[in-house]
Amino acid sequence: MMGTLVRFTLIHDDPILANAAIAEAVAVMQKSANTLTIYGEDDNAIKQFNRSIPAAKIILPQAISKLLEYALDVQEQSSGAFSPLLGKLNIMWGFSLAELPIKPPPAAQLLANLKQLKKADIYHKNRLWWRDNDSLLLDFGAIAKGYVVDEGIKILRAHGIHNAIINAGGDMRIIGYRGKRDWKIGIRHPDGDGKVLGSLKIHGNASVVTSGDYERFFDYKGQRFHHIINPDTAYPAMGIRSATVISFKSTAEADAWSTALFVRGAKLIPELEKHGMLALLYDVDGKLIISKKLESMFNKVE
Ligand code: AMP
Ligand code: MG
Repeated sequence: MMGTLVRFTLIHDDPILANAAIAEAVAVMQKSANTLTIYGEDDNAIKQFNRSIPAAKIILPQAISKLLEYALDVQEQSSGAFSPLLGKLNIMWGFSLAELPIKPPPAAQLLANLKQLKKADIYHKNRLWWRDNDSLLLDFGAIAKGYVVDEGIKILRAHGIHNAIINAGGDMRIIGYRGKRDWKIGIRHPDGDGKVLGSLKIHGNASVVTSGDYERFFDYKGQRFHHIINPDTAYPAMGIRSATVISFKSTAEADAWSTALFVRGAKLIPELEKHGMLALLYDVDGKLIISKKLESMFNKVE
């Protein structure tokens, strides 16, 4: 789902009930994912918005309208590090296509969009949304997985599941306990090969989301180009290899902020902590930076 493997871990006495809960969660999550993507064949309201002529008003479904309002709040709070308006740049880069690109798009093309985008704006009146320039395209790629995981958890709860994890390729929500113990979550090392940076011991309602330079990338002339774009430059964000955010509110929140944290690095940590989240960063020099409050929960691999 959403180009990634979604893994369900449930603790329940009755496997038949547990499987029924998973089946319904999968169906609801897939439906939700289809409403949020700008890729694929099927049409949706976001795609309609993205092909609308400037000033034309488009009605977004209630849930998407709310999510967009939230995403624009995070854009502001993260000083633009996270932006749901980068659709055109993301399409130019092509990281979400089935086949990864082999070289960067022409700089002139990227910078022309960046220049227009800086002047463009989006407006709304309740669920009615419009833009003043067609350089601005919606893209929920950095928040959709988290949002969809939250939708799945709601379904599991409705089925009486109290101890579970839904993990969509490193974007996960944890509810309850693993038996009598905390859940133990490995944070992947960007170099892969099953290596981890360390592990988190965690329980209750918590989301753990990681944005990494290893998720979607290509190498060109000895340089790595990955899918997280710095909205100030139109190029992949530099300096960080992996950014993890822990949110006790929602996976959508952790998802949006992990992308922002990847773009801005450690200087964004105070802002995210102000909102009750915790952070873990691994930079290009191999330095690990973690929120003070995370120290007792995190076991670093030496
Ligand atoms: P994530 O893996 O959650 O960090 O999200 C990355 C995806 O979000 C990319 O594939 C793009 O579709 C989109 N994206 C890239 N850069 C940004 C950004 N700075 N803000 C918001 N979305 C972005
Ligand atoms: Mg994200």
